[in-house]
Amino acid sequence: MSDIAFWGPGDDPALAGFKEALRTEWLRRGYEFVEGSDPSAACVFNFVNPDDPKPFRRRQRSTYVIAVHTVPEAPADVLRHEYPMLVRALANLSMLVVPGDACYFVTPEQGVYSVADPGDIDEWARALFDRIEPLATSRLVIDNRFDTDLEPELWDGDELTEALYRAGRRLDKLGLLPAPFPLEEIVGPDDLRWIKLVYGIGGLSYGNMSARKDDRRYWMSASGVDKSNLREIGRDILMVKDYDAEAGRMILSVPPGIDPRRASVDAIEHWMIYQEHPEVGAIVHVHAWIPGVQATEFNYPCGTAELAGAVADIIREASEPGRCVVGLKNHGLTITGPSLDDIFERIEPVIEVQVPMTA
Ligand SMILES: [Zn+2]
Repeated sequence: MSDIAFWGPGDDPALAGFKEALRTEWLRRGYEFVEGSDPSAACVFNFVNPDDPKPFRRRQRSTYVIAVHTVPEAPADVLRHEYPMLVRALANLSMLVVPGDACYFVTPEQGVYSVADPGDIDEWARALFDRIEPLATSRLVIDNRFDTDLEPELWDGDELTEALYRAGRRLDKLGLLPAPFPLEEIVGPDDLRWIKLVYGIGGLSYGNMSARKDDRRYWMSASGVDKSNLREIGRDILMVKDYDAEAGRMILSVPPGIDPRRASVDAIEHWMIYQEHPEVGAIVHVHAWIPGVQATEFNYPCGTAELAGAVADIIREASEPGRCVVGLKNHGLTITGPSLDDIFERIEPVIEVQVPMTA
């Protein structure tokens, strides 16, 4: 069973009872606690000093870190208040405890949701465990292996990479590409590098797109690129050719002599969908919303096998898996279609730029 650690200087007396209830609940569910900054911990609660939040420095990327602090009253805009805290503490999740009101969560995808204080601290700890544990134990599949075996006739792309370029222009026109949070203004370059490593994102350029090449392979936008200008093969657009389940990494075909960018963190999700549904020819993932869509139950982090599995489950159950719109809770949409053009024709009239981030 995985290990949990409590860390950090946050010793606000208002949190003492809460901390104990949390510890008791995780122990009751079979987890063990390790002391201090033990690198073997799978999940670390970092009790931060809100005036000077210090990051817990992970030794391994898989360590899930939750920044915790408390205020007597909930701020009017929880996201504005908490997102800088999340970023400065380099956490995977931020947890703002407001006794007598609720515990508010903020995610790197800018989701906000809360678990109300039922008035009984043990009951609260149970509800919080149920909300946190699926996220803390999810598994990132964001490693890449690059093989320089892309066929020479594809080094400059093909009609599918042209379609990806056009789709990126369309996303830009819909207003779905701007970086939603000025990360660089909050953190220094060292921390920014660390964030890219931890979250597996190459900057805050959310969303991704892919187009099927053949039975097994598909073209996909790379991580952290400007999606309004997808041109260079191996850098802006990558050929995903396989998934190594044992090593938990994506395998990509690139031309020789280039310094490839990483694949989008959602490559695993697209992989699962293409494998299971031969009729799917293209997939678009955006941080936007269409009212009334069916959504995943948990807001799993981007790039985890669990998010990919939850999306695949919904698509499997859909009446038309090849033309499906899936809501990713507090996050965005994944849309399948026979082609990129087909997807855009369907979503353009109904898509809303704002994702409902609460509930
Ligand atoms: Zn996303």
